[in-house]
Amino acid sequence: MNPLWLAIERLHRCSLTQVLELLVMQEGHKPAVRLVIDDHELPLLKDAVEGEGLYLGKARVRLREVLDTETGDIFTVSDDSCGSISGAFAVFVSPEPDLARHLAEAESDGETSVQLGRLLGLPDCCTASYVLLQTGKNWLEVWGADLSGGPFDAHANHLASFGSGVSPAGEYMPCSPRCRGTADRARLAITIGRRHGFGGLVDRWESWATCSAIVVDRTALLLSPPGDACFFRVGEPRPDLEQMIQSNHKSDLGKTAEIGRRVDFRTFIGRSEEFKFRQT
Ligand SMILES: [Zn+2]
Repeated sequence: MNPLWLAIERLHRCSLTQVLELLVMQEGHKPAVRLVIDDHELPLLKDAVEGEGLYLGKARVRLREVLDTETGDIFTVSDDSCGSISGAFAVFVSPEPDLARHLAEAESDGETSVQLGRLLGLPDCCTASYVLLQTGKNWLEVWGADLSGGPFDAHANHLASFGSGVSPAGEYMPCSPRCRGTADRARLAITIGRRHGFGGLVDRWESWATCSAIVVDRTALLLSPPGDACFFRVGEPRPDLEQMIQSNHKSDLGKTAEIGRRVDFRTFIGRSEEFKFRQT
């Protein structure tokens, strides 16, 4: 196996999504990848990156991890205050030494997420909508602001990343289920991932990506794929829904295999619509 992927797997803040991102970059379809590591992990990553003929730029600023309790996502923010430094910092891996260095400087100098996103090759529409998240909006409100029409391209179904644990488009928040840039990136990463032995991983993502979802208020319910043993909630807790599921099925939330098929959530919720994704 590629020594760089092996190194990434040993970095405790890095994900399978980032393994796919590095793969896409090494195939020439992505300019750079951002990772968050700490001092102990730097030598391991540096050796692996240099062994692959790539370059690493290290940001000067440290990061603090901030947990969003609504979504369970962990965001990082720059933290220059004394005494509260977590030790984590961003590094940028690229085949272009100037770009790796430029990205590290841009992050250290507090450039906006739009500028960083552009350097990382992310869709402009997505980095623009990310600015709204930084002002305190819930990501589901932004992503699901307009769910009319559809069915949508399954490759732009960001909800699937919560069920499957991987986001082929990359480690960023897509702007909407209509985002063509996200769908194109996911499609390409899936093709490349399959070619390099990640078929099981991308199959799992695709099975979640074609699931229907329901969004009500600021909560999404992703109805489970056949054979997968849960349904998934993203957003604010809904004790009413969870209590209904538990009392009807006498099982915990991790074993509600039939819920998506047996319960019509639309009836229960009353004022939401199921929206669908199709494989293209
Ligand atoms: Zn977008």
